[in-house]
Amino acid sequence: MTLNQTNWTEATQAVEAAQSILIVTHISPDGDAIGSALGLYNMLIKKCPSVTVAVDGGVPDFLEFLPHADHIRPVLTDGEWDLMISTDASDEERTGKAGEYGRAHSKTVINLDHHATNTGFGDIYVVNPDVASAAEVVYQWWKHTGYELDRNVAQPLLTGIVTDTIGFRTSAVKPGTLLAAQELMSHGASLTQITALTLDSRPYKVVDVWKRALPSVELADGVISANITLADQENVEDRERMEYGLVGWLRQVDESMVAIVFTEDTPNQIKLSMRSKRGFDVSKVALAMGGGGHQQASGATVQGTLAEVRAKVLPLLAQAVKEGKLDIV
Ligand code: AMP
Ligand code: MN
Ligand code: MN
Repeated sequence: MTLNQTNWTEATQAVEAAQSILIVTHISPDGDAIGSALGLYNMLIKKCPSVTVAVDGGVPDFLEFLPHADHIRPVLTDGEWDLMISTDASDEERTGKAGEYGRAHSKTVINLDHHATNTGFGDIYVVNPDVASAAEVVYQWWKHTGYELDRNVAQPLLTGIVTDTIGFRTSAVKPGTLLAAQELMSHGASLTQITALTLDSRPYKVVDVWKRALPSVELADGVISANITLADQENVEDRERMEYGLVGWLRQVDESMVAIVFTEDTPNQIKLSMRSKRGFDVSKVALAMGGGGHQQASGATVQGTLAEVRAKVLPLLAQAVKEGKLDIV
């Protein structure tokens, strides 16, 4: 069953009653994780005397341009809060150590998300799987509150929308997404800056990783795959964006319906990053592997060697290709 509940009023009442708020998001944060968290943070610091925002490891380099990115705490080991808001995380584990600490030290938890695979944790739900990003859920919530929307709120929210939709290109983009973007731009968000610093930017060392990974590319049964081994990743810290770029590029291959990149976290732990063309569902495979995500963009972290995990996952993806039908209209 898909969780689809947007209890805007209850969520707003919880914010207004809180003297202290903690905002957490998912580990290995992407543009939507940081964008939705900072959009909330910059909106709520005007309403609440004490607001904390935290994610394990802090903000990735390429998102440091966002207003108050330097306020994000990389480690959370002290504090008590009336309210915790979890954003862009489909399950509790995805919020890492910061989320675990926060849950144990907060009275109430708001679960704000847009993943159809959301597990329904927390006390108050603001979960809308019909929108393209958690940032768009924050935007919808903002519409209900009538709070002030300034550039510091608008810029992170547009970043979440732009990065999760790969520049308004996924099937999750609806007229409402463009209306949200229009309103955020009219409040000072810069689409040009966001695009240049996120989608159109990568350090050369990432291309260097691609050079080492590309010989592993295989195409079979409509599934295109690549491996990024530990050796391939020498000198790379910015792992999340590196994977993202490669799997998105592989999805463009005409002969493939599903793309997957297997990245070694350790010799016995593999991160899966999956993308599909419209009409093919990779989220079921992600769920079966203990992860989650969306029909066309999903992920999971699986125990086992590269060879073992490939042997488990590739047949499931081939099956997903068989069960699907290209739906580009
Ligand atoms: P990625 O390929 O890492 O960019 O992830 C694509 C999508 O899958 C995102 O929407 C993530 O939220 C989701 N996802 C990735 N890894 C996991 C995981 N371990 N558990 C749940 N969802 C995940
Ligand atoms: Mn995310
Ligand atoms: Mn998201």
